[in-house]
Amino acid sequence: MPSVRNFTVLPALPDSLQDLDYVARNVFWAWNPQVIELFRRIDPTLWVSCGHNPVKLLGSVSQTRLQALARNDSFLNELKQAADALRAYLQSSTWYEKACPQTSKPVIAYFSAEFGLHECLPIYSGGLGILAGDHLKSASDLGIPLVGVGLMYQKGYFRQHLNIDGWQQESYVENDAFNMPIELVRKESGRPLTVSVEYPGRSVQAQIWCVSVGRIKLYLLDSNIAPNSSVDRMITSNLYGGDRELRIRQEILLGIGGLKALLAMGIEPTVCHMNEGHAAFMALERIRQLRSAKNMTFDEAVEATRSGNVFTVHTLVKAGLDEFGVELMDKYFGGYFPHLGINRRQFLALGRMLPDDDSEPFKMPVLAIRLSGYVNGVSKLHGQISREMWGSLWPGIPAKEVPIISITNGIHLKTWLSEEIGGLYQRYLGPSWSESVFDKSVWNQTDQIPDEELWSAHQRCKDRLIVFARKRLMAQMQRRGRCHGELRQAEEVLDPKALTIGFARRFASYKRGDLLLKDAKRLARLLNDPDRPVQFIFAGKAHPKDTGGKEIIRHIIHFASEEAVRRRIVFLEDYDMDVARFLVRGVDVWLNNPRRPMEASGTSGMKAAVNGVLNMSTLDGWWPEGYIPEGGWVIGDGQDDPSQDYQDMVEAQAIYSILENEVVPLYYTRSADNLPRAWIGKMKATIKWVAPRFNTHRMVAEYMRRFYNPAAARYRYLAAEAMTRAKAFSRWKSEIREAWSQFAVRDVTVHVNDGPSDEQLNPRQPQLKIGTELNVRALVKLGHVRPEDVCVELYSGPTDSWGNIQEGSPTPMRHEQRAGDDGEHWFTGMMACKATGQHGVAVRVLPNHPDQVNPYDLGLILWEKG
Ligand SMILES: *Cc1c(COP(=O)(O)O)cnc(C)c1O
Repeated sequence: MPSVRNFTVLPALPDSLQDLDYVARNVFWAWNPQVIELFRRIDPTLWVSCGHNPVKLLGSVSQTRLQALARNDSFLNELKQAADALRAYLQSSTWYEKACPQTSKPVIAYFSAEFGLHECLPIYSGGLGILAGDHLKSASDLGIPLVGVGLMYQKGYFRQHLNIDGWQQESYVENDAFNMPIELVRKESGRPLTVSVEYPGRSVQAQIWCVSVGRIKLYLLDSNIAPNSSVDRMITSNLYGGDRELRIRQEILLGIGGLKALLAMGIEPTVCHMNEGHAAFMALERIRQLRSAKNMTFDEAVEATRSGNVFTVHTLVKAGLDEFGVELMDKYFGGYFPHLGINRRQFLALGRMLPDDDSEPFKMPVLAIRLSGYVNGVSKLHGQISREMWGSLWPGIPAKEVPIISITNGIHLKTWLSEEIGGLYQRYLGPSWSESVFDKSVWNQTDQIPDEELWSAHQRCKDRLIVFARKRLMAQMQRRGRCHGELRQAEEVLDPKALTIGFARRFASYKRGDLLLKDAKRLARLLNDPDRPVQFIFAGKAHPKDTGGKEIIRHIIHFASEEAVRRRIVFLEDYDMDVARFLVRGVDVWLNNPRRPMEASGTSGMKAAVNGVLNMSTLDGWWPEGYIPEGGWVIGDGQDDPSQDYQDMVEAQAIYSILENEVVPLYYTRSADNLPRAWIGKMKATIKWVAPRFNTHRMVAEYMRRFYNPAAARYRYLAAEAMTRAKAFSRWKSEIREAWSQFAVRDVTVHVNDGPSDEQLNPRQPQLKIGTELNVRALVKLGHVRPEDVCVELYSGPTDSWGNIQEGSPTPMRHEQRAGDDGEHWFTGMMACKATGQHGVAVRVLPNHPDQVNPYDLGLILWEKG
């Protein structure tokens, strides 16, 4: 190899255009259309060919054009406005300052393997990344003290093309980091700051890129630098590419390298948020760093850091679990776990459901759950599924009480709203609507928007979508080498007046992308109704290794190429944020039909709804919360049939029936002035319901209130006084753990407190009147443990036919007195029979300490034995 000297060439902006560089380098523009408009004005063609990347645009535009712009007063004026808007934004006071007026701000570090901020930063694959991007944007708008941590992939996620047969082809485009809205973090000397991470037999260096997302900084680690071997330079080559070994290398860089990078920049996080398990090695590194700084045992360091760790689980399918075999763990962590102060067995147990099962792989979500004080799923339904899926990590604890809560996802409104609809909100909800997006009363004013204005705004978005789709189709066909006649057909596909349904998502089999094609004849009838036609626009990628997903795409392409339907079904290649924006703004109906309950949340339907697009979906993910009968449609009854084929058939039929009987008639029923008034009513209902609830401002504020603030307070409290509290709490925990096996609940008596008589519950004839009070007494053996160290509870509720309490609720019992010198105590409690039917009551014991995040913190519970 010849020796090459590298250097960077920067564009030479005339003095009066210097602010262009300033606005281009903060992705604030991604949610501010007036700034985008400014870039487009520089050179509309170049703007498109640069992939909407303003930094690349500035580097590619000719000096002559720049000189001309420098003399153009109206352009200079717009530039000044854009730069002033950014400056004003960065200086304005924020929601956070008002809502959380603490003296010492916490630092929240948000770790994610992908971030979807804009299509020109292709370091995302889909929903998880877009959620992370929207999280940062809302954190910026709200002024949350947060930093993002991720990886800078050289090639990002793949680009999708379909061949003539409809088979997905993947290609990778090399990211040119120096022509992107990112900057290297440098030391004072001007040299790039690097961090060093230990890998087997070597250390790997990574440089750090910084993306400015409004007020927020996102730091991306990049191993593609000279001191590393060519293999190690590939660690950050692609997102979700390669084998498990590449993945473990990436996740080490993200979690361990990510935390080290923060430290190297002088950022000491109070709260660390892991968005999915990919970043869970962070929790190990946090323990290691604390131990080496503060001389603590593993257990003590766990107590301190756990209180400041937040984990959002997204996983639903066991097959999609992020896990590593024991050999890989040994290879990559054999030299690491000794620094944690534990042995190999203890280390591997951190990632196992069953700590003693030597064959069980190391599961990243399990590691994250074990080392986080705060865990959540991303919709109500997903929280419930997660409590069942991970519940065995808290043995004996009823599923309902498993401490995994739900914080439902949202979207960043300004990113996803069309200018047309956003303009209407500005006018009819008041200019400050975007600052009070979780205020439901603001959204009630949606009713003030005149029907014709809402409809024509929507229709303009639809026209734009159709123009965009035709252009894309032409390009797709040209690439596939189609002849002239066929190209002309591409110009004529889609009808701006026809009911348009969008379906865009990852083509994973559970999403059932071709469910609609189950009955091709019935579908063709719908499409070709001469008076009330229907058309579909599809988009989405299949994972490169998912042959089943690719088959689904091919199935759609084959169906769409039939003469009878080709004008009414199109497939847009290379689904990304750009395509998504056109689709969620421009279709009439957003269709989603995942197999329940496989969708954790889904966010594309939210993007559609806030633009007035009506959702039609199975009751999965967010839709059980998002659905209101006056605002959308439900496919199926929310029951899950064990036979998948049968369920697919039933739900496909349901889709046709809803379309034929409800959607199509409603859309085509027009008033005298040709407006679908009832349809518009549904648009307003869905906006009013969805916009204030399913936006990331609400979501991030909820994370702040339920997780970040309590986690920061607890972390500081436990870390105070040189970690004495964390150490004391850890000591208490180990004492309770040790004593636990000696505990016992015995001699439980239940007395019926029924008027004057006070008799014991007759076990053979347990019939009570509603309102009856029961007095329960229990003798609990605690050994040397003090009664205030436990919480003894009555647990009561309706019973099933096996006599088990399915959904009970706890009532605390009172310590009455010590019983002898044997460490036994009497506890008493009282409950009232509030509902009729079969009921049961049981006595249980949980650990009790003010420093627990929740009573299930130790995973210990003792029930009275039958
Ligand atoms: C919003 C979005 C997603 C996620 O949407 P789902 O509803 O989860 O399918 C995926 N990809 C892109 C490009 C998006 O914009």
